[in-house]
Amino acid sequence: MLDIAIIGAGPGGLATSLRLHQQGITPTIYEAAPELKPLGVGIDIKVYGTKEVTEMGLLEAFRKISVEARDSTFYTGHGQQIFTEKCGRHMGYDHEQRFVHRGTFQFMLLDAVKDRMGAETVQLGRRLASFVQDDAGVTLVFEDGSTARHDAVIGVDGIHSVVKRQLHPDATRTHYSGVAMYRGVTVMKPYGNGGTILHIGDPIRQGSLIVYPIANDEDGEGSQLVNWVCEQQGKPKGVEDWSVRVGPEDIQDVFADVKLGFLDVGEMIRDAREIYIYPLIDNDPLDRWSFGRVTLVGDAAHAMYPRGGNGVCQALVDARVIAEKLGAIADPAEAFAAYEAERREFVNRLVIANRGEGPEVIRRLVEEASGGQPFDNIDDIMPRQEVEDLFMEYHVKAGMKRPDDAREGRRGREVFTEDTMKRVAVKEDIR
Ligand SMILES: Cc1cc2nc3c(=O)[nH]c(=O)nc-3n(C[C@H](O)[C@H](O)[C@H](O)COP(=O)(O)OP(=O)(O)OC[C@H]3O[C@@H](n4cnc5c(N)ncnc54)[C@H](O)[C@@H]3O)c2cc1C
Repeated sequence: MLDIAIIGAGPGGLATSLRLHQQGITPTIYEAAPELKPLGVGIDIKVYGTKEVTEMGLLEAFRKISVEARDSTFYTGHGQQIFTEKCGRHMGYDHEQRFVHRGTFQFMLLDAVKDRMGAETVQLGRRLASFVQDDAGVTLVFEDGSTARHDAVIGVDGIHSVVKRQLHPDATRTHYSGVAMYRGVTVMKPYGNGGTILHIGDPIRQGSLIVYPIANDEDGEGSQLVNWVCEQQGKPKGVEDWSVRVGPEDIQDVFADVKLGFLDVGEMIRDAREIYIYPLIDNDPLDRWSFGRVTLVGDAAHAMYPRGGNGVCQALVDARVIAEKLGAIADPAEAFAAYEAERREFVNRLVIANRGEGPEVIRRLVEEASGGQPFDNIDDIMPRQEVEDLFMEYHVKAGMKRPDDAREGRRGREVFTEDTMKRVAVKEDIR
């Protein structure tokens, strides 16, 4: 049996271990943190991510810790409704779309790894410093001076990956979009049907606010844990660290004009249990992931803007594909090359597409068409069919064609061109 090392016990590294185990391989995971904590805020697991979770045998466990997405609703900066679209199975897809806390999701995967492979599979406090590979294997060198030898190594050590830095010394710069993200969670009574993702604000004047529930009955009295992300142009760039906390002062009044009736946005921000600031950053696509017996998975391979849930979902897909290849091809270097051939080009396109506005473009189009003024009837600004067509086109471009898409050649406005998908241009390098 192949002796595989995985660097990093984030969602990507843990999912890769579970998928390898399904192929009869038990890897060793080396994690830098001396103790794992359920860090982060909300993540959006798309239908294709839930498919991966289901195939890992974790759907029931996942349902217990997450909230099913029912619909997705867009509002102007004045709180006027633009459009609602159903989500997941409610839209006719085969799988659910679900919202969850990143840390809770990571711990669900961690528990499954320990149950199936034993607690010793995850070695904490082992921060990789470098590696040396030869024809027969790879020697890992840790920061504490200890070493370990394995047949092959998968670097799943996140956006600041040490494995990537050694493989690509000249291609590890982080690109900053010019947007700072305030990411918070608030314990509050459910709004609407308890499964709605809200997209609020005019993108020019206010910036953008996305809100969705990530856990039910957080306080034993029926409250939900609600995740919100506020994107602000031109704010000072935060540190590239997921754990930098701030207060609500900067943003609590930005959405004061938004009167939703069922949600007091300012109160939700003021009452937050925690708020983090994080720059909207990614890495330029890499032209190579695999070098002999060493390869990359998850954010180490393709860090993308943490919007729309694609980062974690793509890591789940990587995990399946790399395990399938290692299960089918005896030589790990050949298996890694086959994994990369199947994944890299597609994911690289997604990294670029994620820099664009995606479905949030609708709020800008309505803002432009209405001159930023309240309207009497949205149909006067953008007819319903035009909006439907626009969303169907987006889902086609995102690789999740809507089950009810029967446009038969009716194309409508070409909004999601290569150019508009890149509209949020990369503004500067962080380092
Ligand atoms: C603390 C934290 C909080 C996050 N919060 C959010 C969030 O709220 N929303 C969101 O969309 N995304 C968040 N992310 C990113 C998200 O987890 C990833 O985009 C996605 O899940 C892919 O996961 P990954 O396993 O590839 O990378 P990550 O989740 O970044 O995991 C990488 C793991 O590798 C470990 N590691 C790093 N360097 C070394 C080393 N040298 N040796 C050994 N281990 C190492 C890290 O400690 C970490 O556990 C967060 C990431 C982190 C690390």
